[in-house]
Amino acid sequence: MKRREILKTLTMFPLAGAIGNSGSIVQAAPLPKRDIFSEFGLRTFINASGYFTSLSGSLMNDEAFEAIRDASKHFCRLEEVQDKVGARIASLLHAESAMVTAGAFSALMLGMAGILSGNDAKKASQIPFLEGTGIKSEVILQKAHNDGYAHALKNCGVKLITVTTAKELENAITDQTAMMYFINYQASLGEIQHAEWLKIAKKHKIPTMIDMAADLPPKENLWKFHDMGFDLVCVSGGKFMRGPQSTGILSGKKDLIAAARLNAPPRGNNIGRGMKVNKEEVFALYFALERFINSDQDQEWKMLEDRITVIANAASSVKGVKAEVIPLLLINRIPTLNISWDKSLIKLDNLATNLREGNPSIEVMGGPGGSINVTTHMLKADEVKIVAQRIKDELTKAMV
Ligand SMILES: *Cc1c(COP(=O)(O)O)cnc(C)c1O
Repeated sequence: MKRREILKTLTMFPLAGAIGNSGSIVQAAPLPKRDIFSEFGLRTFINASGYFTSLSGSLMNDEAFEAIRDASKHFCRLEEVQDKVGARIASLLHAESAMVTAGAFSALMLGMAGILSGNDAKKASQIPFLEGTGIKSEVILQKAHNDGYAHALKNCGVKLITVTTAKELENAITDQTAMMYFINYQASLGEIQHAEWLKIAKKHKIPTMIDMAADLPPKENLWKFHDMGFDLVCVSGGKFMRGPQSTGILSGKKDLIAAARLNAPPRGNNIGRGMKVNKEEVFALYFALERFINSDQDQEWKMLEDRITVIANAASSVKGVKAEVIPLLLINRIPTLNISWDKSLIKLDNLATNLREGNPSIEVMGGPGGSINVTTHMLKADEVKIVAQRIKDELTKAMV
């Protein structure tokens, strides 16, 4: 059909009403209710484990969900969405500029690519094949900070140079050094702390990036690292913040964010083209962030601990069971309860499996020696008692 004929056809339905999401000109009838999980034979579960990617992350908060619904009804220019939303995020985070990325891993990768390319589109098109391009090719980090997430940087073609002491760091800096990378949750395992890292970077005029994807709460971490002087900060949107699982934030220096966006959709012929976030996710992340920042985190923390107490009391009411709050882990610092039992009184080797396979299905973390670890931040209010009761029942059943 020619364009003119299509237009003519469209005008034949003047009373057809709004164009629905399907793109159809005909007024859509209300959609039939479907239960998508049972339709696909999937079992849902109560998540007393945490926001793990393999468990589908966190559940979006209502603000994020509503933003997706509203944003999905209209078109607008993606670059403008990132401009406007990015500016609002930046002001909340004490940063010059910000963008929404496809997760924190994507923030690492796009931030890295931006540092390598600057505002040169040709250079962006050459990443990750840096040889012979004149692009700097080395990133320095502490040995203790070289975990799996640093792979995001290697994807851009750089070589990771690991150091242990400040002296080694100074010696490792060359004219090939593109960036100095720091990962916050591993800070206590490394010798060089934030301030010293930044001081040396500034002295040599090397851009810095910090990954703090695992470090919410507290919310103050969202701006702390900008205030300290890191040039780029990477955050996950789908963890404690409860934005879409596929979102993150890259925030920092204006020129570096502009350069990162040169490596990201809607632009193509670059390393980031496959890491698309559309307007729905950008808005959803923003509203999740806003809610997170406005939340009363002391009260929420107390709620998490109160829930732990409910579960701990139920479990330890069974003879031979020990339920104790364990020290916060390095990563994802959330109140965590360890439940273990005297094996001479309770014959139970597979509590985590029993909970998963029972009804309702409950997901917990495995702990040392067959014990389990439970967290409460992914629970809905009415699930706390259910988890407490199910754990108590399983333990009671196994008493010898
Ligand atoms: C979870 C995590 C990431 C990846 O975050 P995504 O949003 O899932 O991409 C990166 N770094 C650290 C330290 C993390 O904990």
